[in-house]
Amino acid sequence: GLRGARLRVVSLTSQRRLLNHFITHPAEPIPPPPPPAPSSSPSPKQFTLAVKDNIATTIPGLPTTCASGILSKSYVSPIEATIITQLRARGAVITGKTNLDEFGMGSHSIYSHYGPVSQDTPPETSAGGSSGGSAVAVANGEVELALGTDTGGSVRLPAAYTGIIGYKPSYGMISRYGVIPYANSLDTVGFLSKQINPIKELIIGERGLWKEHDSNDPTSLTAAARKRCAAQRRGYRIRQGQTTELEGLKFGIPLEYNIAELDPKIRDAWAAAAKRLQDAGARIVPVSLPTTKHALAAYYVIAPAEASSNLAKYDGVRYGARDAEGASDASAGGVLYASTRGKGFGEEVKRRILLGSYTLSSEAMDNYFIKAQRVRRLVRRDFNRVFALENPLQERETFELSDLPEEVEMEDKWGPEEVDFLLCPTAPTLAPKLKGVMEQQPVDAYMNDVFTVPASLAGLPAISVPMKVATEGAAGLQLIGQYWDDARLLDVADAVA
Ligand code: GLN
Repeated sequence: GLRGARLRVVSLTSQRRLLNHFITHPAEPIPPPPPPAPSSSPSPKQFTLAVKDNIATTIPGLPTTCASGILSKSYVSPIEATIITQLRARGAVITGKTNLDEFGMGSHSIYSHYGPVSQDTPPETSAGGSSGGSAVAVANGEVELALGTDTGGSVRLPAAYTGIIGYKPSYGMISRYGVIPYANSLDTVGFLSKQINPIKELIIGERGLWKEHDSNDPTSLTAAARKRCAAQRRGYRIRQGQTTELEGLKFGIPLEYNIAELDPKIRDAWAAAAKRLQDAGARIVPVSLPTTKHALAAYYVIAPAEASSNLAKYDGVRYGARDAEGASDASAGGVLYASTRGKGFGEEVKRRILLGSYTLSSEAMDNYFIKAQRVRRLVRRDFNRVFALENPLQERETFELSDLPEEVEMEDKWGPEEVDFLLCPTAPTLAPKLKGVMEQQPVDAYMNDVFTVPASLAGLPAISVPMKVATEGAAGLQLIGQYWDDARLLDVADAVA
C-alpha cells in the first residue's frame, strides 16, 4: 500500500529533515559548470533549481527514477536532458530531484514508489500532481524555480493547489529530449516559481529558450517554424512597464467551464478576477468551447494509449529492474516480462497500461482511439475559433459549398467575439486532503484535470497564477493563449498575478 511506502533518500546530510517532496537531495547543491573558455561574457546570475525526477540528469548523485520501482534500483541515464543543459548554462544550481506520480501519471502525487507528497502547510493536503514535489519545493521557498512536466495539467494543477505560478509553454517550444515520455503528443516541460520574472527571463529574455530548436527532439519546432511563428506574433508583444497593459485586451470566459462540480468559492473568485480585469480596462466576453465536455474523456483515451506504448520497453531486458527470481519461478508464471512489470510498476501505471492496450486493440480502436483523435481535432477547432490570432501551425479550415454556383470559401470563425486570452479556474476545487484523495475512485481523480486537458490536447500555452479565494487554501486562475502567444501570455500573467 501507498501509506506504508518508505521514503528512500539517495544521499542526504544527516541533519537535514527528511522531505517527501525531494527524492534525491544531495548534501551540497550542484553548481552550474563554468562557461566554456575562452569566454568574454560574464557568468550568468545563479539561481536554485529543483528538477522533477522524470527529467534525465547525469550528474553523479542525481539519479533519474520517475518515482517508479522499475527504475529506482539501478537505472543510470546515459544522457542529460536538453533543458537541464540549457538551464545549467544559464546559471541553475540544482538542489535535487523531486517526487512525482510514477511516470507523471496522476493528479495528486500519491502514486509514487517513495510515498505520497504532502504540502507542508497545510499538512496532509494534496500538493497536486504529477509535479507535486517541484511545487512544494517552490512553495516552501527552498528553490527559486522548479522544472515540472505538463501532459494534461501536471504543472498547472500543483501550482494552483500550492499557491504558486505554473507555466506550460506551447507544445514544441521546449525540448523534450531527455524527458522520459508519458504521452509524447502531449508532454511539455513546464516551469514553477513564485515569481513570473525568472520564468519570463528564461523563456523570452535575452537568451530566451523560445528561440532554441533541438535537433534531438523530433517535435521541437524547427528554426524556420519558430521564425514564422514569431513573425506572426510581432507587434503583439505588450510593452513592459506600460501602465495600461490590460487596457483593450479581450478575455473570454468559456461558458462550458462553469460546471456543476465547480466549488462555489472558486466560481466567486473567478468572477472577482474577471471583474478586476474589467476595472483595469480589459474587456470580458463569454465564449463557447462546445467540445470541452468531451475533452477529458478524449484525454484519458489518448494519454494512456501513448503511455502503454511508451512503457512497453520496461521489460527487464531493454529497461527496468529485471525480476530474475520471478522469471525462473514457474509457480509465479515463469515469464520474465510479466514478473518484471508486475513487480516494478505501481497500481496507477498498470491501470493506464491496461486502458491503453485495450483502446488500441483491434476490436476497440475505432470506438475509442480514433474517436478520441477526432475529439482532439474538434477541441483545437474550438480554440482556433475563439482566438483573434490565427494558429500559425494550422491552416484555417474552409468549407466548400459545392452546391453554390461559385465556390465560396468561408473563414472558420464563429460569431463576432474573438479574444486574446481565455480566463478560467485551473481546477474545480481547492486542494483536497490526502486522506480523501487516497480513498477516491481513480475516475474521480481524473475529474480534477477537466480545465487543464483542453489546452494540452490543443498544444496551447497556459499558465496558472494564484487566485484569491474567500477561504483558507490556494486556488489557481488559468490563462490560455493561442499557439506561440507565450510572450504575451507571460506579460499578461504578470499584470494579472
Ligand atoms: N493528471 C493527468 C494524468 O494523470 C495529467 C498528468 C500530467 O500532466 N503529467 O494523466
